[in-house]
Amino acid sequence: MSIALHDMGVARLAAHLREKKVSSVEAARHFLARARQHQHLGAFLALDEEATLAQARAQDAALAAGDAGPLAGVPIAHKDVFVTRDFATTAASKMLAGYRSPFDATIVARLAQAGCVTLGKLNCDEFAMGGASENSGVAPAGFDAPQPVRNPWDPSRVPGGSSGGSAAAVAARLTPAATGSDTGGSIRQPAGFCGITGIKPTYGRASRHGMIAYASSLDQAGAMGRSAEDCALILSAMCGPDVAHDSTSVDRPAEDYGARLNDSLEGLRIGVPEEFFGDGLADDVRAAIEAALGEYEKLGARRVPIRLPRTQLAVPVYYIISPAEASSNLSRFDGVRYGHRARDYADLLDMYQKSRAEGFGEEVKRRIMIGTYVLSEGYYDAYYLQAQKIRRLIAQDFQAAFAQCDVIAGPVAPTVAPPIGAQTDPVANYLADVYTLPASLAGLPGLSLPAGFGAGGLPVGLQLIANHFQESHLLNAAHRFQQASDFHLRAPEGF
Ligand code: GLN
Repeated sequence: MSIALHDMGVARLAAHLREKKVSSVEAARHFLARARQHQHLGAFLALDEEATLAQARAQDAALAAGDAGPLAGVPIAHKDVFVTRDFATTAASKMLAGYRSPFDATIVARLAQAGCVTLGKLNCDEFAMGGASENSGVAPAGFDAPQPVRNPWDPSRVPGGSSGGSAAAVAARLTPAATGSDTGGSIRQPAGFCGITGIKPTYGRASRHGMIAYASSLDQAGAMGRSAEDCALILSAMCGPDVAHDSTSVDRPAEDYGARLNDSLEGLRIGVPEEFFGDGLADDVRAAIEAALGEYEKLGARRVPIRLPRTQLAVPVYYIISPAEASSNLSRFDGVRYGHRARDYADLLDMYQKSRAEGFGEEVKRRIMIGTYVLSEGYYDAYYLQAQKIRRLIAQDFQAAFAQCDVIAGPVAPTVAPPIGAQTDPVANYLADVYTLPASLAGLPGLSLPAGFGAGGLPVGLQLIANHFQESHLLNAAHRFQQASDFHLRAPEGF
Protein backbone atom coordinates (compact mmCIF):
# COMPACT_ATOMS: atom_id res chain seq x y z
CA MET A 1 0.00 0.00 0.00
CA SER A 2 1.42 3.38 -0.84
CA ILE A 3 1.53 5.92 1.95
CA ALA A 4 2.10 9.66 1.56
CA LEU A 5 5.56 10.91 2.54
CA HIS A 6 4.07 13.17 5.21
CA ASP A 7 2.29 10.22 6.84
CA MET A 8 5.44 8.17 7.27
CA GLY A 9 7.14 9.72 10.26
CA VAL A 10 10.87 9.77 10.82
CA ALA A 11 11.61 6.06 11.14
CA ARG A 12 9.79 4.97 8.03
CA LEU A 13 10.85 7.94 5.94
CA ALA A 14 14.52 7.37 6.86
CA ALA A 15 14.22 3.76 5.67
CA HIS A 16 12.50 4.89 2.49
CA LEU A 17 15.33 7.31 1.77
CA ARG A 18 18.00 4.69 2.51
CA GLU A 19 16.30 2.28 0.12
CA LYS A 20 16.27 5.09 -2.46
CA LYS A 21 12.51 4.87 -2.93
CA VAL A 22 12.52 8.64 -2.70
CA SER A 23 15.34 11.17 -2.91
CA SER A 24 16.17 13.78 -0.29
CA VAL A 25 15.34 16.50 -2.80
CA GLU A 26 11.91 14.97 -3.51
CA ALA A 27 11.19 14.65 0.20
CA ALA A 28 12.30 18.24 0.84
CA ARG A 29 10.13 19.56 -2.01
CA HIS A 30 7.14 17.62 -0.75
CA PHE A 31 7.34 19.10 2.74
CA LEU A 32 8.20 22.60 1.53
CA ALA A 33 5.06 22.53 -0.61
CA ARG A 34 3.01 21.50 2.43
CA ALA A 35 4.58 24.26 4.52
CA ARG A 36 3.54 26.80 1.86
CA GLN A 37 0.10 25.30 1.42
CA HIS A 38 -0.64 25.54 5.15
CA GLN A 39 1.19 28.73 5.99
CA HIS A 40 -2.04 30.18 7.39
CA LEU A 41 -1.13 28.29 10.59
CA GLY A 42 1.73 30.75 11.12
CA ALA A 43 4.03 27.90 12.12
CA PHE A 44 7.04 28.81 10.00
CA LEU A 45 9.02 32.02 10.36
CA ALA A 46 11.90 31.52 7.92
CA LEU A 47 11.60 29.35 4.80
CA ASP A 48 14.34 29.37 2.18
CA GLU A 49 13.80 26.74 -0.47
CA GLU A 50 17.26 27.17 -1.99
CA ALA A 51 19.00 26.62 1.35
CA THR A 52 16.86 23.55 2.05
CA LEU A 53 17.39 22.06 -1.41
CA ALA A 54 21.15 22.59 -1.19
CA GLN A 55 21.20 20.58 2.04
CA ALA A 56 19.00 17.92 0.43
CA ARG A 57 21.30 17.62 -2.58
CA ALA A 58 24.24 17.07 -0.25
CA GLN A 59 22.33 14.23 1.45
CA ASP A 60 21.49 12.65 -1.90
CA ALA A 61 25.20 12.72 -2.72
CA ALA A 62 26.02 11.07 0.62
CA LEU A 63 23.35 8.42 0.02
CA ALA A 64 24.75 7.73 -3.45
CA ALA A 65 28.29 7.51 -2.07
CA GLY A 66 27.20 5.15 0.71
CA ASP A 67 28.47 7.34 3.56
CA ALA A 68 25.15 8.79 4.70
CA GLY A 69 24.13 9.28 8.33
CA PRO A 70 21.22 7.39 9.93
CA LEU A 71 18.73 10.18 9.21
CA ALA A 72 19.98 11.05 5.71
CA GLY A 73 17.45 13.20 3.89
CA VAL A 74 14.91 13.34 6.72
CA PRO A 75 13.45 16.86 6.84
CA ILE A 76 13.38 18.65 10.18
CA ALA A 77 12.46 22.16 11.25
CA HIS A 78 14.01 24.04 14.13
CA LYS A 79 12.43 26.24 16.75
CA ASP A 80 13.71 29.73 16.08
CA VAL A 81 15.68 29.84 19.34
CA PHE A 82 18.39 27.64 17.80
CA VAL A 83 20.88 29.60 15.73
CA THR A 84 21.40 28.48 12.14
CA ARG A 85 23.84 29.60 9.48
CA ASP A 86 21.54 28.92 6.55
CA PHE A 87 18.42 30.63 7.93
CA ALA A 88 17.77 33.84 9.86
CA THR A 89 17.31 33.36 13.63
CA THR A 90 15.08 35.72 15.59
CA ALA A 91 13.81 33.94 18.73
CA ALA A 92 10.52 35.42 17.43
CA SER A 93 11.69 38.84 18.63
CA LYS A 94 11.77 42.10 16.76
CA MET A 95 15.04 42.58 18.64
CA LEU A 96 16.70 39.98 16.38
CA ALA A 97 14.71 40.47 13.18
CA GLY A 98 16.81 39.33 10.22
CA TYR A 99 19.73 38.20 12.42
CA ARG A 100 22.04 35.69 10.76
CA SER A 101 24.28 33.57 12.98
CA PRO A 102 27.84 32.79 11.89
CA PHE A 103 27.52 29.24 13.28
CA ASP A 104 24.98 26.45 13.85
CA ALA A 105 23.79 25.52 17.35
CA THR A 106 25.36 22.22 18.44
CA ILE A 107 22.06 20.34 18.22
CA VAL A 108 21.45 21.73 14.72
CA ALA A 109 24.95 20.67 13.66
CA ARG A 110 24.49 17.20 15.15
CA LEU A 111 21.20 16.64 13.40
CA ALA A 112 22.78 17.79 10.14
CA GLN A 113 25.62 15.37 10.72
CA ALA A 114 23.08 12.58 11.15
CA GLY A 115 21.69 13.60 7.76
CA CYS A 116 18.69 15.80 8.58
CA VAL A 117 17.73 18.51 6.09
CA THR A 118 16.46 21.79 7.55
CA LEU A 119 13.08 22.89 6.16
CA GLY A 120 13.05 26.21 8.00
CA LYS A 121 12.63 27.92 11.34
CA LEU A 122 9.57 27.67 13.52
CA ASN A 123 7.51 30.31 15.24
CA CYS A 124 7.33 30.46 19.04
CA ASP A 125 6.76 32.84 21.90
CA GLU A 126 9.33 35.64 21.94
CA PHE A 127 12.51 34.34 23.60
CA ALA A 128 10.50 31.21 24.51
CA MET A 129 8.52 33.14 27.12
CA GLY A 130 4.93 31.99 27.09
CA GLY A 131 2.60 29.04 26.93
CA ALA A 132 0.42 29.77 23.90
CA SER A 133 2.63 30.99 21.03
CA GLU A 134 0.62 34.21 21.03
CA ASN A 135 3.66 36.31 22.02
CA SER A 136 5.55 36.17 18.74
CA GLY A 137 7.06 39.46 17.59
CA VAL A 138 7.98 38.40 14.05
CA ALA A 139 5.78 37.93 10.97
CA PRO A 140 5.55 34.29 9.91
CA ALA A 141 6.10 33.18 6.28
CA GLY A 142 3.27 34.52 4.13
CA PHE A 143 2.30 37.35 6.53
CA ASP A 144 3.54 40.89 6.91
CA ALA A 145 2.81 41.27 10.63
CA PRO A 146 3.31 39.02 13.68
CA GLN A 147 0.60 36.37 14.14
CA PRO A 148 -0.31 33.91 16.86
CA VAL A 149 0.37 30.32 15.78
CA ARG A 150 -2.81 28.31 15.12
CA ASN A 151 -3.61 24.82 16.36
CA PRO A 152 -4.28 22.49 13.38
CA TRP A 153 -6.98 20.66 15.37
CA ASP A 154 -8.94 23.91 15.62
CA PRO A 155 -7.38 27.02 14.06
CA SER A 156 -9.28 29.26 16.47
CA ARG A 157 -7.26 27.69 19.32
CA VAL A 158 -3.65 28.14 20.44
CA PRO A 159 -1.16 25.33 19.82
CA GLY A 160 0.40 25.89 23.25
CA GLY A 161 3.84 27.27 23.80
CA SER A 162 6.41 28.30 23.69
CA SER A 163 7.32 25.68 21.02
CA GLY A 164 3.91 26.13 19.39
CA GLY A 165 5.21 26.43 15.82
CA SER A 166 7.06 23.13 16.30
CA ALA A 167 3.98 21.35 17.66
CA ALA A 168 1.61 22.77 15.03
CA ALA A 169 3.98 21.91 12.16
CA VAL A 170 4.41 18.31 13.32
CA ALA A 171 0.68 17.85 14.00
CA ALA A 172 -0.21 19.20 10.54
CA ARG A 173 2.55 17.00 9.10
CA LEU A 174 4.36 19.94 7.54
CA THR A 175 7.53 18.31 8.89
CA PRO A 176 8.19 14.78 10.16
CA ALA A 177 9.86 16.17 13.29
CA ALA A 178 10.97 19.38 14.94
CA THR A 179 13.21 20.62 17.66
CA GLY A 180 11.84 22.50 20.62
CA SER A 181 13.12 23.99 23.83
CA ASP A 182 11.65 23.44 27.25
CA THR A 183 12.40 25.78 30.15
CA GLY A 184 9.23 25.17 32.10
CA GLY A 185 7.13 22.99 29.81
CA SER A 186 7.53 24.43 26.33
CA ILE A 187 7.99 21.07 24.61
CA ARG A 188 5.57 19.01 26.69
CA GLN A 189 2.60 21.39 26.85
CA PRO A 190 2.38 22.24 23.11
CA ALA A 191 2.94 18.56 22.29
CA GLY A 192 -0.08 17.85 24.49
CA PHE A 193 -2.24 20.57 22.93
CA CYS A 194 -1.41 19.41 19.38
CA GLY A 195 -1.65 15.65 19.89
CA ILE A 196 1.99 14.82 19.20
CA THR A 197 4.87 13.35 21.21
CA GLY A 198 7.56 15.57 22.71
CA ILE A 199 10.46 14.88 25.02
CA LYS A 200 12.62 17.18 27.09
CA PRO A 201 15.74 15.29 28.19
CA THR A 202 17.57 15.61 31.52
CA TYR A 203 19.07 19.06 32.06
CA GLY A 204 22.59 18.99 30.63
CA ARG A 205 21.95 16.14 28.18
CA ALA A 206 21.49 18.28 25.06
CA SER A 207 23.94 21.09 24.43
CA ARG A 208 22.75 24.65 25.00
CA HIS A 209 25.47 26.03 22.71
CA GLY A 210 23.72 28.16 20.12
CA MET A 211 20.36 28.01 21.89
CA ILE A 212 19.28 31.58 22.59
CA ALA A 213 19.12 31.76 26.38
CA TYR A 214 15.95 32.38 28.36
CA ALA A 215 16.71 30.90 31.81
CA SER A 216 20.03 29.07 31.62
CA SER A 217 19.59 26.79 34.64
CA LEU A 218 16.35 25.43 33.16
CA ASP A 219 16.64 25.67 29.34
CA GLN A 220 16.86 22.32 27.60
CA ALA A 221 16.50 21.32 23.95
CA GLY A 222 14.42 18.33 22.96
CA ALA A 223 12.61 16.49 20.21
CA MET A 224 9.04 16.65 18.90
CA GLY A 225 7.53 14.10 16.53
CA ARG A 226 4.38 12.09 16.11
CA SER A 227 5.59 8.97 17.88
CA ALA A 228 8.00 8.02 20.65
CA GLU A 229 9.96 6.01 18.11
CA ASP A 230 10.49 9.14 15.99
CA CYS A 231 11.45 11.20 19.03
CA ALA A 232 13.98 8.53 20.05
CA LEU A 233 15.70 8.79 16.66
CA ILE A 234 15.88 12.58 16.77
CA LEU A 235 16.93 12.71 20.41
CA SER A 236 19.70 10.13 19.92
CA ALA A 237 21.19 12.34 17.22
CA MET A 238 20.82 15.58 19.23
CA CYS A 239 22.18 14.61 22.62
CA GLY A 240 25.64 13.92 23.95
CA PRO A 241 28.48 15.84 25.56
CA ASP A 242 29.56 19.27 24.32
CA VAL A 243 31.77 20.26 27.21
CA ALA A 244 33.96 22.57 25.12
CA HIS A 245 31.00 24.86 24.38
CA ASP A 246 28.50 24.42 27.23
CA SER A 247 29.74 24.33 30.81
CA THR A 248 26.56 22.54 31.97
CA SER A 249 26.79 19.85 29.29
CA VAL A 250 27.05 16.46 31.00
CA ASP A 251 30.12 14.50 30.03
CA ARG A 252 28.37 11.24 29.35
CA PRO A 253 28.42 9.43 26.01
CA ALA A 254 25.52 9.74 23.58
CA GLU A 255 22.92 6.98 23.82
CA ASP A 256 20.70 5.05 21.45
CA TYR A 257 17.31 5.95 22.90
CA GLY A 258 15.60 3.51 20.58
CA ALA A 259 17.33 0.45 22.00
CA ARG A 260 14.74 -0.25 24.71
CA LEU A 261 11.55 0.89 23.02
CA ASN A 262 10.03 -2.57 23.05
CA ASP A 263 10.88 -3.58 26.61
CA SER A 264 7.93 -5.03 28.48
CA LEU A 265 6.05 -2.80 30.92
CA GLU A 266 5.22 -5.78 33.14
CA GLY A 267 5.69 -4.66 36.74
CA LEU A 268 6.47 -1.02 35.85
CA ARG A 269 5.53 1.13 38.84
CA ILE A 270 3.71 4.27 37.67
CA GLY A 271 3.60 6.94 40.35
CA VAL A 272 0.44 9.02 40.22
CA PRO A 273 0.84 12.25 42.21
CA GLU A 274 -2.27 13.29 44.11
CA GLU A 275 -1.32 16.96 43.58
CA PHE A 276 -1.70 16.63 39.78
CA PHE A 277 -5.38 15.70 40.10
CA GLY A 278 -6.72 18.52 42.26
CA ASP A 279 -9.42 21.12 41.72
CA GLY A 280 -7.97 22.98 38.75
CA LEU A 281 -8.00 19.91 36.48
CA ALA A 282 -10.74 19.99 33.81
CA ASP A 283 -13.07 16.97 33.74
CA ASP A 284 -12.40 16.07 30.11
CA VAL A 285 -8.64 16.04 30.70
CA ARG A 286 -9.05 14.03 33.90
CA ALA A 287 -11.16 11.43 32.08
CA ALA A 288 -8.64 11.01 29.25
CA ILE A 289 -5.73 10.70 31.70
CA GLU A 290 -7.61 8.15 33.81
CA ALA A 291 -8.34 6.09 30.70
CA ALA A 292 -4.67 6.22 29.68
CA LEU A 293 -3.59 5.06 33.14
CA GLY A 294 -6.07 2.20 32.82
CA GLU A 295 -4.45 1.28 29.50
CA TYR A 296 -1.06 1.17 31.23
CA GLU A 297 -2.46 -1.25 33.80
CA LYS A 298 -3.58 -3.49 30.93
CA LEU A 299 0.00 -3.35 29.64
CA GLY A 300 1.23 -4.75 32.95
CA ALA A 301 2.09 -1.56 34.83
CA ARG A 302 1.08 -0.98 38.42
CA ARG A 303 -0.37 2.29 39.72
CA VAL A 304 1.29 3.67 42.85
CA PRO A 305 -0.24 6.70 44.59
CA ILE A 306 2.53 9.20 45.40
CA ARG A 307 2.84 12.72 46.78
CA LEU A 308 4.71 15.69 45.36
CA PRO A 309 3.74 18.02 48.19
CA ARG A 310 5.40 21.18 46.87
CA THR A 311 3.77 21.10 43.42
CA GLN A 312 1.87 24.38 43.97
CA LEU A 313 5.10 26.12 45.01
CA ALA A 314 6.67 25.33 41.65
CA VAL A 315 4.76 28.24 40.08
CA PRO A 316 6.07 31.07 42.29
CA VAL A 317 9.54 29.49 42.43
CA TYR A 318 9.78 29.21 38.64
CA TYR A 319 8.36 32.69 38.07
CA ILE A 320 11.06 34.14 40.34
CA ILE A 321 14.04 32.12 39.09
CA SER A 322 13.30 32.19 35.35
CA PRO A 323 12.72 35.99 35.09
CA ALA A 324 15.82 36.56 37.24
CA GLU A 325 17.94 34.59 34.79
CA ALA A 326 16.14 36.13 31.82
CA SER A 327 16.82 39.67 33.03
CA SER A 328 20.51 38.82 33.15
CA ASN A 329 20.60 36.89 29.85
CA LEU A 330 18.67 39.52 27.92
CA SER A 331 20.94 42.36 29.04
CA ARG A 332 23.13 41.47 26.07
CA PHE A 333 20.53 42.90 23.69
CA ASP A 334 21.61 46.49 23.99
CA GLY A 335 21.51 47.66 20.39
CA VAL A 336 25.31 47.71 20.20
CA ARG A 337 26.67 44.30 19.29
CA TYR A 338 23.72 42.92 17.38
CA GLY A 339 20.00 43.23 17.20
CA HIS A 340 17.66 46.14 16.86
CA ARG A 341 18.98 49.67 17.37
CA ALA A 342 16.65 52.67 17.67
CA ARG A 343 16.92 55.09 14.80
CA ASP A 344 16.95 58.32 16.80
CA TYR A 345 18.56 58.83 20.20
CA ALA A 346 20.21 61.61 22.18
CA ASP A 347 23.07 59.74 23.88
CA LEU A 348 24.25 56.25 24.80
CA LEU A 349 21.76 55.71 27.63
CA ASP A 350 18.92 56.94 25.46
CA MET A 351 20.04 54.55 22.73
CA TYR A 352 19.94 51.57 25.14
CA GLN A 353 16.55 52.56 26.46
CA LYS A 354 14.91 53.19 23.11
CA SER A 355 16.43 50.13 21.44
CA ARG A 356 15.20 47.84 24.22
CA ALA A 357 11.82 49.56 24.48
CA GLU A 358 11.26 49.12 20.74
CA GLY A 359 12.83 45.66 20.34
CA PHE A 360 11.21 43.70 23.16
CA GLY A 361 7.54 42.73 23.41
CA GLU A 362 5.33 43.22 26.43
CA GLU A 363 5.78 39.79 28.06
CA VAL A 364 9.56 39.94 27.70
CA LYS A 365 9.62 43.39 29.32
CA ARG A 366 7.38 42.16 32.14
CA ARG A 367 9.82 39.36 32.89
CA ILE A 368 12.90 41.58 32.68
CA MET A 369 11.27 43.89 35.23
CA ILE A 370 10.26 41.06 37.57
CA GLY A 371 13.72 39.53 37.26
CA THR A 372 15.54 42.78 37.92
CA TYR A 373 13.32 43.38 40.93
CA VAL A 374 13.90 39.98 42.56
CA LEU A 375 17.65 40.28 42.07
CA SER A 376 17.91 43.79 43.47
CA GLU A 377 19.45 44.49 46.87
CA GLY A 378 17.03 43.85 49.70
CA TYR A 379 14.77 41.62 47.58
CA TYR A 380 17.40 39.11 46.55
CA ASP A 381 17.28 37.38 49.96
CA ALA A 382 13.52 37.60 50.26
CA TYR A 383 12.69 36.23 46.79
CA TYR A 384 15.53 34.80 44.76
CA LEU A 385 17.37 33.01 47.55
CA GLN A 386 14.15 31.61 49.03
CA ALA A 387 13.11 30.38 45.60
CA GLN A 388 16.44 28.60 45.18
CA LYS A 389 15.95 26.84 48.52
CA ILE A 390 12.45 25.69 47.63
CA ARG A 391 13.73 24.55 44.24
CA ARG A 392 16.05 22.19 46.09
CA LEU A 393 13.15 20.85 48.19
CA ILE A 394 11.07 20.25 45.04
CA ALA A 395 13.94 18.18 43.63
CA GLN A 396 14.11 16.21 46.89
CA ASP A 397 10.38 15.47 46.72
CA PHE A 398 10.97 13.79 43.35
CA GLN A 399 13.80 11.68 44.76
CA ALA A 400 11.51 10.52 47.57
CA ALA A 401 8.84 9.66 44.99
CA PHE A 402 11.28 7.71 42.81
CA ALA A 403 11.99 5.44 45.79
CA GLN A 404 8.42 4.19 45.26
CA CYS A 405 7.97 4.28 41.50
CA ASP A 406 9.80 4.07 38.16
CA VAL A 407 7.99 6.79 36.24
CA ILE A 408 5.52 9.47 37.27
CA ALA A 409 2.39 10.07 35.20
CA GLY A 410 -0.22 12.81 35.11
CA PRO A 411 -1.74 15.50 32.92
CA VAL A 412 0.55 17.90 31.09
CA ALA A 413 -1.87 20.82 31.33
CA PRO A 414 -5.09 21.45 33.27
CA THR A 415 -7.24 22.00 30.14
CA VAL A 416 -7.25 21.34 26.40
CA ALA A 417 -5.95 24.13 24.14
CA PRO A 418 -7.75 27.41 24.88
CA PRO A 419 -9.06 29.80 22.20
CA ILE A 420 -6.65 32.38 20.77
CA GLY A 421 -6.96 35.65 22.65
CA ALA A 422 -8.76 34.15 25.65
CA GLN A 423 -5.85 34.21 28.06
CA THR A 424 -5.27 37.85 28.90
CA ASP A 425 -4.20 37.60 32.54
CA PRO A 426 -0.46 36.81 32.78
CA VAL A 427 -0.80 35.29 36.25
CA ALA A 428 -3.55 32.92 35.10
CA ASN A 429 -1.21 31.85 32.31
CA TYR A 430 1.60 31.18 34.78
CA LEU A 431 -0.70 29.06 36.96
CA ALA A 432 -1.53 26.80 34.00
CA ASP A 433 2.13 25.66 33.98
CA VAL A 434 1.75 23.92 37.33
CA TYR A 435 2.17 20.36 36.03
CA THR A 436 5.24 20.97 33.87
CA LEU A 437 7.29 23.28 36.10
CA PRO A 438 8.22 20.82 38.89
CA ALA A 439 10.20 18.48 36.60
CA SER A 440 11.94 21.47 35.01
CA LEU A 441 13.03 22.84 38.38
CA ALA A 442 14.38 19.39 39.29
CA GLY A 443 16.21 19.00 35.94
CA LEU A 444 14.30 15.78 35.20
CA PRO A 445 13.41 14.37 31.78
CA GLY A 446 9.76 14.65 30.82
CA LEU A 447 7.64 13.49 27.89
CA SER A 448 4.15 14.18 26.66
CA LEU A 449 2.25 11.70 24.51
CA PRO A 450 -1.22 11.80 22.98
CA ALA A 451 -3.56 10.20 25.50
CA GLY A 452 -6.94 10.80 23.91
CA PHE A 453 -9.31 13.65 23.16
CA GLY A 454 -11.28 16.04 25.33
CA ALA A 455 -13.96 18.66 24.74
CA GLY A 456 -14.34 19.73 21.11
CA GLY A 457 -12.26 16.77 19.92
CA LEU A 458 -9.08 18.49 21.10
CA PRO A 459 -6.04 16.39 22.04
CA VAL A 460 -5.09 15.62 25.65
CA GLY A 461 -1.45 14.96 26.56
CA LEU A 462 -0.26 12.48 29.17
CA GLN A 463 2.95 13.58 30.88
CA LEU A 464 5.54 11.03 31.97
CA ILE A 465 8.50 12.03 34.18
CA ALA A 466 11.49 9.84 35.00
CA ASN A 467 14.61 10.16 37.10
CA HIS A 468 17.74 11.80 35.67
CA PHE A 469 19.13 10.18 32.50
CA GLN A 470 16.22 7.76 32.19
CA GLU A 471 14.94 9.13 28.90
CA SER A 472 14.87 5.60 27.50
CA HIS A 473 12.34 4.57 30.20
CA LEU A 474 10.05 7.39 29.10
CA LEU A 475 10.35 6.52 25.43
CA ASN A 476 9.81 2.84 26.18
CA ALA A 477 6.66 3.56 28.19
CA ALA A 478 5.35 5.91 25.49
CA HIS A 479 6.16 3.49 22.67
CA ARG A 480 4.38 0.56 24.30
CA PHE A 481 1.30 2.73 24.80
CA GLN A 482 1.47 3.77 21.15
CA GLN A 483 1.67 0.13 20.08
CA ALA A 484 -1.66 -0.36 21.81
CA SER A 485 -3.39 2.91 20.77
CA ASP A 486 -3.72 5.05 17.66
CA PHE A 487 -4.12 8.56 19.11
CA HIS A 488 -0.67 9.53 17.82
CA LEU A 489 -1.58 8.44 14.28
CA ARG A 490 -4.74 10.49 13.95
CA ALA A 491 -4.42 13.63 11.90
CA PRO A 492 -6.42 16.84 12.21
CA GLU A 493 -9.04 17.35 9.51
CA GLY A 494 -7.88 19.25 6.44
CA PHE A 495 -4.23 18.27 6.73
N1 GLN B 1 5.19 28.70 29.90
C1 GLN B 1 6.45 28.78 30.56
C2 GLN B 1 6.95 30.21 30.52
O1 GLN B 1 6.25 31.01 30.03
C3 GLN B 1 7.45 27.84 29.94
C4 GLN B 1 8.21 28.40 28.82
C5 GLN B 1 9.29 27.50 28.32
O2 GLN B 1 9.39 26.33 28.72
N2 GLN B 1 10.15 28.04 27.48
O3 GLN B 1 8.01 30.52 30.96
